[in-house]
Amino acid sequence: MAPISKECDYLVIGGGSGGLASARRASGQWRAKTIAVESSRLGGTCVNVGCVPKKVTWNAAAIAETLHEAKAYGFSIKETAPFDWTTFKHKRDAYVSRLNGIYEKNLEKDKVEWLHGRAHFLSKNEVEVVLHDGSKQTIRAKNILIATGGHPNIPKDIPGSELGITSDGFFELEKRPEKVALVGAGYIAVEMAGMFRHLGSETHLFIRHDTFLRSFDPMIQETITAEYERQGIIIHRQSSQQKLQKDPTTGKLTLHYSDSTTKSSTLELDCLLWAIGRAPEVEDLALPNAGVKQSEKGHIIADEYQNTNIPHIYSLGDVSGNIELTPVAIAAGRLLANRLFGGPAHKNSKLDYSNIPSVVFAHPEVGSIGLSEPDARKKYGDDNIKVYNTSFTAMYYAMMDSDADKAPTKYKLVVEGEEERVVGLHILGAGCSEMLQGFGVAVKMGARKRDFDACVAIHPTSAEELVTLK
Ligand SMILES: Cc1cc2nc3c(=O)[nH]c(=O)nc-3n(C[C@H](O)[C@H](O)[C@H](O)COP(=O)(O)OP(=O)(O)OC[C@H]3O[C@@H](n4cnc5c(N)ncnc54)[C@H](O)[C@@H]3O)c2cc1C
Repeated sequence: MAPISKECDYLVIGGGSGGLASARRASGQWRAKTIAVESSRLGGTCVNVGCVPKKVTWNAAAIAETLHEAKAYGFSIKETAPFDWTTFKHKRDAYVSRLNGIYEKNLEKDKVEWLHGRAHFLSKNEVEVVLHDGSKQTIRAKNILIATGGHPNIPKDIPGSELGITSDGFFELEKRPEKVALVGAGYIAVEMAGMFRHLGSETHLFIRHDTFLRSFDPMIQETITAEYERQGIIIHRQSSQQKLQKDPTTGKLTLHYSDSTTKSSTLELDCLLWAIGRAPEVEDLALPNAGVKQSEKGHIIADEYQNTNIPHIYSLGDVSGNIELTPVAIAAGRLLANRLFGGPAHKNSKLDYSNIPSVVFAHPEVGSIGLSEPDARKKYGDDNIKVYNTSFTAMYYAMMDSDADKAPTKYKLVVEGEEERVVGLHILGAGCSEMLQGFGVAVKMGARKRDFDACVAIHPTSAEELVTLK
């Protein structure tokens, strides 16, 4: 057994959203002796290959949309050169690097010791860290948090699949691909397809069924799928991929596929992006050494208090697979640190995983909190559910001459029982991501339809339609 080189109250494995939030709360606020281990760049998925660079790119795509629409408002904007992807990419990288530095400073400020290395369990309370310079440290900890996140999947059974990239590779692209295909129907595929399209790539989206965003309310699924087609994204429904090949001289890819219109066809591409789901980052942790239990898909099983089956080992965020969003990991991490180190006042501290709002940065944006209409009907019964809908063209589009240039806006409120308590809110249209946060507070507080109605509208906005639903 290697000699113990460090001891601490709290060892956090993974310096991403959840791990850093938990480590900083434990040390900064509660003075627990805390060590955080991160094998790559501080900030994890969100900062480096997720929310942050994604939203910056989405902003660029939204500007491209606005430039296109500006003509209808009387502007004569001539684009003298195509979007400069390369310069934009380097500026985005520099922003992310600045954030990495800020995260490091924040750790210092909160007196969290940071080790740059990869951790694995030796036993229930001992972890070995292989540091970046190749040396090793063995740490004995009273409490250990596993917050190692996840990674994108690449299909194993499709020859040549490794020639494609994933969402991680999206952020490495130095040039805009002229012709790109994305495979997947979740929010990452949908967001990236929208960004490629609006930044000028010919974009193909391969989905297994007839709509995408399939965990969302059917109104969202159907509207956004139709809207993407209106915008020129080529959707391949009921599709499957047989193989991917690369021409060694031109570097072009050829995808062999089938879809609802063809049993067998090929598509020449500059880039293919797999967005077919993510897997927990557990392979290197040597979990059997600690006896930590995993689900069939490999996620670490944690209860609502983030406890694993082993006392003093906890898990949260994407590696435990319960609502994979940054603010969820952050909130769970802080609340866990409060519970472990914050004394009796915090002994029951835990995250309430119900009614968590989420947004898809599609074109247009999508927001959702609570139950979809089918889920609400299943849970409460058809007789107890009422649905309020509205569908309209936002005033922004009044200046567009052709209906073909107008994006849809649709809202749905799902209410339950005589009191008409809001159990689901689903919105699609410009500005929805910012709108949802405020309405989320109301839903979380248990608002009823009449509470929405009692709030005087703000005019002229799109959001006012949510407080005047009939
Ligand atoms: C393309 C994309 C877009 C996204 N957009 C959004 C969004 O808009 N909004 C949102 O809320 N969420 C978004 N997410 C999800 C969000 O990024 C994750 O839910 C969040 O980062 C999870 O935090 P975490 O702490 O669980 O893991 P992570 O942030 O992934 O951090 C885990 C860290 O652990 C490190 N690690 C792994 N194994 C070890 C080891 N053995 N030793 C040491 N370190 C290790 C990893 O290097 C990593 O830095 C997006 C994700 C992707 C991929």
